[in-house]
Amino acid sequence: MTERPTHAPMNQFAHRDGELLIGGQTLSTLAARVGSTPFYVYDRQLLRERVDGLRAALPPQIKLHYAMKANPMPAVVGLMATLVDGIDVASAGELKVALDAGADAAEISFAGPGKRDAELGQAVAAGVLVNVESARELPVLAQASQTLGLSARVAVRINPDFELKGSGMKMGGGPKQFGIDVEQLPGLLVEVGRLGLAFEGFHLFAGSQNLRAASICEAQLKSYELARRLADLAPAALRFLNLGGGFGIPYFPGESRLDLQPIGDNLAQLVERARTELPEVSFVLELGRYFVGEAGVYVTRIVDRKVSRGQVFLVTDGGLNHHLSASGNFGQVIRKNYPVTIGNRIDATVLETASIVGPLCTPLDLLADQMDLPVAQIGDLAVVFQSGAYGASASPQAFLGHAPCAEVLV
Ligand SMILES: *Cc1c(COP(=O)(O)O)cnc(C)c1O
Repeated sequence: MTERPTHAPMNQFAHRDGELLIGGQTLSTLAARVGSTPFYVYDRQLLRERVDGLRAALPPQIKLHYAMKANPMPAVVGLMATLVDGIDVASAGELKVALDAGADAAEISFAGPGKRDAELGQAVAAGVLVNVESARELPVLAQASQTLGLSARVAVRINPDFELKGSGMKMGGGPKQFGIDVEQLPGLLVEVGRLGLAFEGFHLFAGSQNLRAASICEAQLKSYELARRLADLAPAALRFLNLGGGFGIPYFPGESRLDLQPIGDNLAQLVERARTELPEVSFVLELGRYFVGEAGVYVTRIVDRKVSRGQVFLVTDGGLNHHLSASGNFGQVIRKNYPVTIGNRIDATVLETASIVGPLCTPLDLLADQMDLPVAQIGDLAVVFQSGAYGASASPQAFLGHAPCAEVLV
């Protein structure tokens, strides 16, 4: 008989009196403090420990950027800006949040397809680095430079001829809307030079949510070697090399936490090679979910308990409308359960099989499908772990007219 795979232990949060402790408060006290359910809560201490832990595992020369699309809550971005070396934004809206949060413009980079002319102008005015994703952006940047009397800082995002194997989402390799195909790079680099743009380096981002250290190392090595070859064609020395990220966190049964040791070793070798091969280069990793995902939970109150033909349904006051990812509708191919519990009955010894569903009138609104959970009653608090990334801002909050969720940083 084979054991059913289980979720990785969610031991980043302590318990007290059978309740989850977040930011030093029990879940029920925290819910009273927030004043309404559902809500997301993010733990400052866990965010700090995450960044510190990653720094300790990597060579000191590696700069860490926070890709704020994972969690754009202004208070989170403000805290992250004090912990990491730079912020990666993907729209003028995110650029505003990052600048308002006090992030250093010199250490902000702006990636993403379809940048509007106005957004490119804002980026030049702000003095941030633009990761160019299309030849169309170059003359717009040159025009903005001229109008503003400021030189446009550019890196070129490369769509490489390889993929990040085993990624939850592939964002490089093959035909893609992201970046410039490596075959087109020689001509594009000539154009960057001709237009007098301030070339700083390359950006590669091959994929996301990867738990296989060996695949990440392979992609980093290939990215480095590609950048080294292309550096000979660049109009200026390479000062910036963003190797992407893609570090995953365990969401589903059978997954375990990423092993950082081989990644640290691999990067140490690249740093050593760069001392002679690319002597002016700074390496950057840009990570979203790895920094914030495990530090946040989604909390929703059980408002009904129903039994239908022998199956228990716990109906909550929020679901897919606030947490599309946990419902399985944000990029999952086969729906699997996030780690979920009843946050005020953590010590329960008696479990029952139950499904947790949200209040929306669609069968897609499912937070837990027949999981073994503490026996829950109306008024209890269901908790979805691993919810600090791609939660509130990545969900259709207007769908079905329920109130938006609260978000707190504790
Ligand atoms: C989405 C994205 C990230 C962050 O991805 P995570 O999986 O959250 O780490 C980083 N860089 C780029 C270019 C992205 O599009």
